Amino acid sequence: MGKVYLTGAGPGDIELLTLKAARVIKEADIIIYDRLANPQILTMAKNGCECIYVGKEDGKHILPQDQINEVIYQSALRADVVVRLKGGDPFVFGRGGEEGAYLAQRGIEFEVIPGITSSIAVPAYAGIPVTHRGVSVSFRVVTGHEAPNKEASQIPWENFKTDDTIVFLMGLHNLGQIAAKLIEIGKPKEFPVAVISKGTTLEQRTIIGTLEDIAQKAKDLPTPALIVVGKVVELRDKLNWFEKELGSI
Ligand code: SAH
Repeated sequence: MGKVYLTGAGPGDIELLTLKAARVIKEADIIIYDRLANPQILTMAKNGCECIYVGKEDGKHILPQDQINEVIYQSALRADVVVRLKGGDPFVFGRGGEEGAYLAQRGIEFEVIPGITSSIAVPAYAGIPVTHRGVSVSFRVVTGHEAPNKEASQIPWENFKTDDTIVFLMGLHNLGQIAAKLIEIGKPKEFPVAVISKGTTLEQRTIIGTLEDIAQKAKDLPTPALIVVGKVVELRDKLNWFEKELGSI
């Protein structure tokens, strides 16, 4: 039986891959990868490595999660080194926990290789630090997948009243509802918001707005995109290093 590496691919920029991830990718007999893992990384694999795509396209899963679990498990039965490659970090909205548990239950050895998560790195590439002395003493990473008006929402909206940073992943299609909900719990309409699309890649784009106008402004941005709500967004005026570089290419 082989060993499975639940591996973070980083947020997009291929150089944000860890040395450990690069090592197991080079050793892998099978790589099972997602849409958000930069496909350029696969060129590092050895000759004969089998690459299996299990990502999703336009919100539609090619394979449901239980079948992905099974693909990983079956791969470990027939290969020595199996890399499960996921965008960002495998345990930040990556369902890596479910995959690890599935393997553990079946006696398959696994290791987790954390990755640089988009929730911190993408704001950084937009010139937005998720914490900043005197501006934000904490940050939260929240799923934006769940519509805020859903009955029995599991998200503790009432806790979001402070000025601290909130990063929403998977939220672009719910942006209008998320912004409206934050206004409803008492945040000012002028509260700053950034939406960053294709972060850390050459196609990165950032739209800055307020809770009131961001949904309209960002409606045509391509995915993947994440939302940063917080006073830290204003620091971009001084810290926008990457898009400046992109502009000069
Ligand atoms: N495990 C991943 C997150 C998976 S959820 C991580 O740690 O980064 C997928 C969501 O991540 C997307 O809907 C989007 O909100 C965000 N995301 C991932 N890569 C991104 C990128 N390059 N630019 C902007 N958002 C990104």
